[in-house]
Parts: sequence; structure tokens; C-alpha cells
Amino acid sequence: MLTADRILELKKEKSVYIIAHYYQRPEVQDIADFVGDSYAMAVAAKNSPLDTILVAGVDFMAESAAILCPGKTVLTPEPSATCPMADSVDIQHVLEYKERYPDSLVVSYVNTPAAIKAVSDICVTSSNAAKIIAKLPQDARILFIPDENLGKYIASKLNRSLDLYPSCCPIHAAVTADDIKEQKQHYPGAEVLVHPECSPEVVALADFVGSTAGILDYAARSGKKQLIIVTECGIMHSINKVSPGKELILAHSELICPNMKSITLDKILYSLENRETVVSVPEPIRSQAVTALEKMIAYAS
Ligand code: SF4
Repeated sequence: MLTADRILELKKEKSVYIIAHYYQRPEVQDIADFVGDSYAMAVAAKNSPLDTILVAGVDFMAESAAILCPGKTVLTPEPSATCPMADSVDIQHVLEYKERYPDSLVVSYVNTPAAIKAVSDICVTSSNAAKIIAKLPQDARILFIPDENLGKYIASKLNRSLDLYPSCCPIHAAVTADDIKEQKQHYPGAEVLVHPECSPEVVALADFVGSTAGILDYAARSGKKQLIIVTECGIMHSINKVSPGKELILAHSELICPNMKSITLDKILYSLENRETVVSVPEPIRSQAVTALEKMIAYAS
């Protein structure tokens, strides 16, 4: 029996709800019950119809599910799938900032460990950061962590100053303006769809800037036949499904997140068979972190 078929059989037998990120391998997306961006994954975990959730995504995504669903079992098929940007945050920096500016707000991207969410006022994702920050008091001083590029994009979109943290996604930050110009020369009629984790120079060349879910939605609506995709390559599988017949051009051959791609069907099968590895977030970190995540869901809806 094929691994994918065995997974489909086993998840039914063991009542496991599989949630996957758009950056997962195509075959992993295909066996999932739900595929989405990090915001949609958090909401899907919270609303999961089953008591066991397997998260096909990097560690902070599985942690978010565990934070939001304390009564459920959350499994990760690959505990070493981490996000270097999330792991770059120094909690001391955040605590010192809060001490220096006691009235400030700490807005953290969901790409952060649970301990950072626990000291944050609210979480955001790339799909809702602008909407949520626009709802915060205009005079509030804000520390935005950890993606400097996303922070710059939101600040310019809202015309509001944000204190930024010096970090970024190594995958998106590797794309240069020259890469985009080169692709535009090859495909002059194509539209350029850019994730805001890219540098401001790359964002400036975009026809559309948005989260993975935003890019997927825009690609389906676009009247153009050729689209230059400037985010992790996994999204192309979802775009092909909702909008077949379009030519998708990956802006840069290195737009592949090795951590996301470290999750395979074999590892998912092992995880289902052995109920490993269970993700848990110790109290009181979980109960402190859940406030920031719940607030995000409330402000984003
Ligand atoms: S694509 Fe970037 S932000 Fe997303 S998990 Fe990989 S390294 Fe982290």
C-alpha cells in the first residue's frame, strides 16, 4: 500500500486531524484535512473537530496549536523542524524594552517561540498584521518582533512608526531586486506576487504584496497567464489546484525552506503509528501565551 493511502487510512482509524502549511511538500498538502497559512492553521487547530491534531509545519506552528488547544493532543512528525527567524529572538531584548517603555505594546509575529508569545501583548501573522496594528492605540509605542522586513512593510502601509527587531526570514530575504528584474525581463507580461517578508527593494517591484493566503487568492483572481512567485515554492502547489493553467515562475531557485521540507510522508506515517512526538507547552508559559494568540484571533475577525 502507498504511504499516502496508509496515512489516509490511519488518520481515520485513529481520529487524527492533519493541518498543513502551504509551504509543505505537495504530497503532504494532499493528505491534510486542512491546508493554510499560519493564521488559518491556528484557527483550524482551535476549531479542530477531533481531539488529536497532527501539525505539518515548523515547531512554532505546532506550539501554537498546543497553546490554543490544551485539552487536545498535538503531534509533530519532525520535532527538529524549526524556524531560524523565530529562534533568533532574544527574550532579554523584549523584557528590557518593556522595562524601558512600560506603556509600550509588544506585537509578535506568530513566528516566535511560546516564551516570546508569553511576554507579548498580541500576536499577528502576515495576513492580519496591518489590520490588527491599525486597531491598536495610535499613540502607543510598538515593538514589532521578529521580522524586520514585514515590520517595515506594515509601518509604511499604515504610515506609523514601529520599533523593529533585527531579524528576518533567510529564505525570503535572499531574494534580491536584481532577481526580480531579471525575471521581469524574461517574462515581461507576468505579474509579480511578493510576500512581505522580502526586502523593501523587492516589495517595491511587486504588482501584489500579501501573505501566502493573499498570494493564493490574488493568483486565482489575476487575469494574467504568467505569475512570478516571490515566496516559498510550496504555495505553487496550492495555486495550481485553485487556478490550473497558469504559468508559475519561481523568482529564485532558493525559495525553498529546508525546515518546512524536512517533513515527509514517511515521518507523518511514523508519527501516526507511534503517536509521536507530542508537543506540549508548560504552564504558566502556555496560559500567558494563549492571551496573545486569542487576542490575535479576536482582532483579526
Ligand atoms: S520560510 Fe522563513 S519564516 Fe517560514 S519557516 Fe522557513 S525560515 Fe521560518
